[in-house]
Amino acid sequence: MPILVMKFGGTSVGSLDRIQRAAKRVGREVANGYDVIVIVSAMSGETNKLVGYVEETSPLFDAREYDAVVSSGENVTAGLMAMTLQEMDVPARSWQGWQVPVKTTSAHASARIEEIPNENILAKFGEGMKVAVVAGFQGISPEGRITTLGRGGSDTTAVAFAAAFGAERCDIYTDVDGVYTTDPRITAKARKLDRIAFEEMLELASLGAKVLQTRSVELAMRYNVKLRVLSSFEEPSDEAGTLVCAEEDIVESNVVAGVAYSREEAKLTLTHVEDRPGIAAAIFGPLADAGVNVDMIVQNISDAGMTDMTFSCPVNEVKRAEKALKDARDAGEMGFAELIADTEVAKVSIVGIGMRSHAGVAAKMFKTLRDEGINIKVITTSEIKVSVLIDRKYMELAVQALHDAFELDKAA
Ligand code: ADP
Ligand code: ASP
Ligand code: MG
Repeated sequence: MPILVMKFGGTSVGSLDRIQRAAKRVGREVANGYDVIVIVSAMSGETNKLVGYVEETSPLFDAREYDAVVSSGENVTAGLMAMTLQEMDVPARSWQGWQVPVKTTSAHASARIEEIPNENILAKFGEGMKVAVVAGFQGISPEGRITTLGRGGSDTTAVAFAAAFGAERCDIYTDVDGVYTTDPRITAKARKLDRIAFEEMLELASLGAKVLQTRSVELAMRYNVKLRVLSSFEEPSDEAGTLVCAEEDIVESNVVAGVAYSREEAKLTLTHVEDRPGIAAAIFGPLADAGVNVDMIVQNISDAGMTDMTFSCPVNEVKRAEKALKDARDAGEMGFAELIADTEVAKVSIVGIGMRSHAGVAAKMFKTLRDEGINIKVITTSEIKVSVLIDRKYMELAVQALHDAFELDKAA
């Protein structure tokens, strides 16, 4: 039998009614002749609630225990989905990550999948089971502890299963009907894309468009998984949703494909650090060891051998970053005068493979922000994106203005 992977996100399994609706969709694919692997998220809001419990209990928590707690939301929906299917006379069984087993690294809270042996589930399909419901987001480390794949990780579970089982397609069911030129919650002018290139989706995802987890796009690109994003609330059709595909399979596209944002950013500045070989290593080494995800970095011009170093990281990692830097200073590894944290910033980015061959895209972005009176605090660029750090209160305005300026509401 051909295998299909269907992933349902938090909103799509947010209540018993919605689980039932999703199960009906699964039942239809079984009737179409597929063996189905269903990947479920926790009910919407559930993972946030669990993260909240962890942070309240232990602000600098042990990541192993974080994973033990936050992985649990998916266990509930996996069992409920299997039961709902059984009630519909569809032979189904649930699997937690460790049971498969989904083997991951031991990087707790952001583990990577290393291997998914498929024998157990294939044997069950051989015995007449039609649907394997797998708890997304979770796996097991070489040490035998439960891990999680980072927020939004069920997308990655889904694509990894599609690759491991040679699935015909990986359908990601969510609360929007595809990938848009920007988050449709920010502007009604956002336009759904029928297709988007892997590279663009990869950038959009890593710059904050949470419709797909970055790693899921990476895996789909590497293993050539046919990846589709579609709504669990609309009637299915062959043209539904957005296909994430190779650049060659897209006929026309805009220079800028989309605008992404990341709201919860922070900017940290270390003043008066020595400008000497090894200073960056002395600052960013301890941050990496503490698990801080540093993003943009700027070093000021040197004055009398001293300089300032600025970097950005997610706002919920600021405490961890401050502790790591102060510990490093106390240990005599480096010095600084002040550590200034600006926790009211956001990152806004434009992405498009067309930028490789078009000049002036960054300049147009900066002019657009100037015309709105928005000050840019930090800039980074790569071949196919430009990102800026700005005051968080202007984030929506910046996204809307850029969407207008690059005419993303119009197809190429
Ligand atoms: P799920 O729980 O199904 O995984 P997520 O909340 O993780 O859903 O992702 C879907 C959300 O991603 C949408 O509701 C939308 O607000 C947001 N989003 C951000 N950027 C985009 C974009 N470019 N296209 C579509 N959705 C986007
Ligand atoms: N439930 C997890 C989260 O909210 C994983 C997911 O939904 O993809 O991040
Ligand atoms: Mg998600």
